[in-house]
Amino acid sequence: MSPSPVWHPFTQHGLQEPIPLVTHAEGASLFTADGRRVVDAISSWWVTTHGHAHPRLSRAIAEQAARLDQIIFAGWTHEPAETLAAGLRALMPPELTRVFFSDSGSTSVEVALKMALGYWLHRGEPRHRILVLDHGYHGDTIGAMSVGARGVFNHAYEPLLFDVETIPFPGSGREQEALDALERACRTRAAAFLVEPLILGAGGMLIYSPQTLAEMRRICLAYGVLFIADEVMTAWGRTGTLLACEQAGVVPDILCLSKGLTGGAIPLAVTMATEPVYLAHYGQERSRMFFHSSSYTANPIACAAANANLAIWREEPVLDRIADLSRRQAERMSALAAHPAVTNPRQLGTIAALEIGRPGGYLSDLAPRLLAFFRERDLLLRPLGNTVYVMPPYCISDADLDRIYQAIEHACELV
Ligand SMILES: *Cc1c(COP(=O)(O)O)cnc(C)c1O
Repeated sequence: MSPSPVWHPFTQHGLQEPIPLVTHAEGASLFTADGRRVVDAISSWWVTTHGHAHPRLSRAIAEQAARLDQIIFAGWTHEPAETLAAGLRALMPPELTRVFFSDSGSTSVEVALKMALGYWLHRGEPRHRILVLDHGYHGDTIGAMSVGARGVFNHAYEPLLFDVETIPFPGSGREQEALDALERACRTRAAAFLVEPLILGAGGMLIYSPQTLAEMRRICLAYGVLFIADEVMTAWGRTGTLLACEQAGVVPDILCLSKGLTGGAIPLAVTMATEPVYLAHYGQERSRMFFHSSSYTANPIACAAANANLAIWREEPVLDRIADLSRRQAERMSALAAHPAVTNPRQLGTIAALEIGRPGGYLSDLAPRLLAFFRERDLLLRPLGNTVYVMPPYCISDADLDRIYQAIEHACELV
């Protein structure tokens, strides 16, 4: 067989690691061309919420594809987008009155940043400085990398990344230091504070308290700094509630949603905004309009999948399933926590994480060994350095969860 021309993301092809060929999937199971069933322990990179090939999502996609596949969204509209925008307005905090569509989490963040800068410019008070949390991750485009943690991931592009002001991560015991730094930064006319609420995903599943999130929101409000919540990973029940912000009683000025928006079936993102952010762009002058679009903005097929996801949320006991998975994760984590190689076991809703051995960073040699170890055991787990986390679809069975945790326990012997 000639080698595949595919260039994979976050893959070093020179290491010749096997790349499984997946033919179909159902629930928390992936089936490969060589006849294996692999348990998806990370929801295919945090997107799959209700399970793979969910009948309601698949049906919505098929029906919409046969009716209206794609239409320009600048100056035109369609029923799936209108229904979705109305559904999101009803489901999300009432202050978030406006829905702007795009295609990925990275883009939803870029849109949020452009909205924030437009807001300040059109108010006649231009501000450009963006505040971010240390260890944050917001995507891989140049703008999204600029507001994320710097490291080996973006070293080559660093000269192109714009400057931001980084607030220390408010880990346990360091909350006040972070809040003080945020307050100092807000005083000097920052445009916006961009934050992953309650848990920093790609930064290593780092958890901080709802009280700190609420305090951060309060500080931004006091200084008129826009508060942007990147809930691309945390929304749709991941942290135990529909939005992570809910646990802190926080409503952002701008909200980014993507991954679980379609239940994980097809790409789509939205950036929701409050009326003042929208009205800053509103008027008779064409120069004030929001200058952003992509070819597939609000693609009808993707919107139909998102509508089916919203229907599942409205009609099925999704929060009960999430509470049940959270409890089942907690049981297994507490059993594993006693292992001498395990450090910092932690959990937030359906997400459980721990470190095996001592930290070695993303390029530590333990990471590829762990990856191979789990792959050989037919588990899709993708540690961040030596941080192993479990973030399965909500429908995962007890037997599959046991398989995951047994493998992690055995992986502890690798250190
Ligand atoms: C995954 C992620 C993104 C980027 O989303 P993509 O769809 O991969 O572009 C942005 N922010 C957070 C918090 C994420 O977890």
